Amino acid sequence: MSKNQYELILNNQKNFFNSGATKSIKFRIEQLKALKEMLIEYKSKIEAALYADLKKSAFEAHVTETGIMIAEIDHNLKNIKSWSKDTPVDTPLFLFPGSSKIKNEPYGNTLIISPWNYPIKNLFGPALGAITAGNTLILKPSEISENTTKITEVMIAKYFSPEYITTVTGGPEETSKLLKLKFNYIFFTGSPSIGKIIYKAAAEHLTPCTLELGGKSPSIVHKSANLEITAKRLVWGKFLNAGQTCVAPDYTFVDESIKSEFIKLLKKEIDNFYTKNPEQSDSFGRIISKKHFERVKKLISGDVVHGGNTNEIEKFIEPTIIDNVTPNHPVMQEEIFGPILPILSFKEVDEVISFVNDNEKPLALYIFSKNNTFTNKIINNTSSGGVCVNETIMHMATPNLPFGGVGNSGFGSYNGWYGYDTFSHKKPVMKRSFWFDVPQKYPPYNKGKFAFIKFAIKKLL
Ligand code: NAD
Repeated sequence: MSKNQYELILNNQKNFFNSGATKSIKFRIEQLKALKEMLIEYKSKIEAALYADLKKSAFEAHVTETGIMIAEIDHNLKNIKSWSKDTPVDTPLFLFPGSSKIKNEPYGNTLIISPWNYPIKNLFGPALGAITAGNTLILKPSEISENTTKITEVMIAKYFSPEYITTVTGGPEETSKLLKLKFNYIFFTGSPSIGKIIYKAAAEHLTPCTLELGGKSPSIVHKSANLEITAKRLVWGKFLNAGQTCVAPDYTFVDESIKSEFIKLLKKEIDNFYTKNPEQSDSFGRIISKKHFERVKKLISGDVVHGGNTNEIEKFIEPTIIDNVTPNHPVMQEEIFGPILPILSFKEVDEVISFVNDNEKPLALYIFSKNNTFTNKIINNTSSGGVCVNETIMHMATPNLPFGGVGNSGFGSYNGWYGYDTFSHKKPVMKRSFWFDVPQKYPPYNKGKFAFIKFAIKKLL
């Protein structure tokens, strides 16, 4: 499509938004219900597409994409009325008589750009916030998860009118054309390097945006942790979707005194989850593309203590553990985004804190420990998008916590109310009465008026 065609789509959405149609709660509730119905109707087709793209099992597809999305829509349906109420706030005495409130106003025309690893959740998660808040949406799913993108285009066209929600498909070229247009909000999920391109393009129009990016999320295992459960939760979080999860524990720092015991437990859990032949396991996924397969495969080197096998035709990379990894190992130079778990060891908590602080701020940070002093020291002395203690990934499964990054892992957040809030401008509205007017505020100024105003500002605010 040419830029002009995209312009036409956006202009239609502008007219639709300006008609006020998206603002009523009734309309928004109807659209949320339609979104839910759409996901239910297409659930099996979506799951087949996810299998074709990533060999994602129906179980994982339900838990991390379709089922969770439907539950999140229900949560928003339950809360939309209370979220949408104006919030009254106090009015200072010197502005008496008057009233003040904060009104949530939809930004207007939004653009949502998503990656390929959770192509449903990472597209419809932000979309849920935008719909709940009363915006129009242009959805730009990833060209790389091509089967899921195809089905997305079909189902959106069936359930929504294009002046309200539509899909634009394509890769960098198409996205660049879209980014030339003036949106009122851009929500991007993807890599930090493309995030910078999006941010620059948004700046041209002073368009506010949220950047949900990635990076290397550390996991830290203290000797006080329940090692059996830690191994289970770490192996699950790392190898879910074949390691292609933005909040996957990227690498693990293990207390030196329990390292060999812990690695044995990790290996045992990998076998328990995916059998000794994970290539045949229905529960283990595939790398999305040849290019990514090659990139991840190259990272396997050094002291490989588990796995390491690959199959290029199948885009299969075995769950792999590399021990005795040092900070200059290739696997520590970039976000792994694949099924490789590097192990580093530590003696003192300060070593871990320094390492985390010397690197970019991660999206997630995982601590496994029963020792609160150890846990709190890490939480209080590092910065990350989120923290999850004694678990992996589940901190983003609750709608009551905001999900988002900080620094290199992005800014802004969503999930439940936070998504609604992200897509709403908080408009302060003050209303004054005509029946009393403070004469001292008006020129010509004099000493008496000045003394009164000084007093009013100091005492009555
Ligand atoms: P990506 O940045 O390559 O692509 C994301 C989107 O940007 C796609 O829709 C793509 O078409 C578009 N894009 C790519 N190049 C572009 C360009 N030059 N100009 C304009 N648009 C362009 O990311 P990806 O490979 O799809 O996903 C992997 C990354 O996403 C990882 O870094 C991962 O950590 C991150 N991620 C973050 C989250 C989160 O919630 N924070 C969730 C999932 C993935």
